Amino acid sequence: MTKLTTYEIAELINVKSILEELPDFETADALEDEAYIRISSLRQSKLPNRVGVRTALEHCYEDNPCNSPACAMCVSRNRLQLIESVLRFYFYAKPFFYFITIVYFSDELRCDNPKAVNPQTLMNRLRKQLTKAGFTRPVMGTFEMDYDLRTQTWIPHFHLIADGVTRDKIDRLTELVNINNSGYRAGIRMKPFDSRLVCDIHGLVPYMYKFMIQAKIAKSTPGSRPRKVRLPEKQFVYSLIWLHQFKFTDLEFRYKVTRSKNGLNAKCHSID
Ligand SMILES: [Zn+2]
Repeated sequence: MTKLTTYEIAELINVKSILEELPDFETADALEDEAYIRISSLRQSKLPNRVGVRTALEHCYEDNPCNSPACAMCVSRNRLQLIESVLRFYFYAKPFFYFITIVYFSDELRCDNPKAVNPQTLMNRLRKQLTKAGFTRPVMGTFEMDYDLRTQTWIPHFHLIADGVTRDKIDRLTELVNINNSGYRAGIRMKPFDSRLVCDIHGLVPYMYKFMIQAKIAKSTPGSRPRKVRLPEKQFVYSLIWLHQFKFTDLEFRYKVTRSKNGLNAKCHSID
């Protein structure tokens, strides 16, 4: 292992500069616009339980943040910290990662309000599936939801990164995830599991930790990625109310790794 200079390490973990290079990362202006849009929607809404989140967002200041995952400003701050801790954690890892997306179509929710979706239940299931598939090293990522405009359902899913994983473990995990969770839905084939081998996670980590619920528009041509757009107004307010009940750590997935104020610590043998 080559020992890096302090300067090289500082360069690598200069997350802000990494983020600024990414086209979709919010600028200060875009963040202010987003905060305004969220507060305006909450002010206009008549939905029950909107007041708590609206008050929190209206009274969020840099020196006294509300720390709500529904707050664009706090998402941005927490996102930076999370990305930095993940990049630090993997600093000495071999540069071969699997980027995994797992969609639990079996748990999609057909209503306007996503309140019945419980991330902890799904995280516990996923941890069991990882253990069963033989994953012995840390896996981390986030829990997210999309709202599918075509089926009008909330779809829970995970984005994960895992290093040092062999193909047979990925295949075993695919089998486990597919049980009762694959087939056809509204005439379209569901794809509950997706994995790809990547060498560089600098672009993926910011993508993973975005904490934003979006609406999904079906693919226009086969093979193309579905487009993500802002949620319809009612679902948008419901999603803010839903997000507000959690801490950022509640939406973060960790397997064989713990988080403390000093960063992430592996619960297995050190990365070799
Ligand atoms: Zn805030």
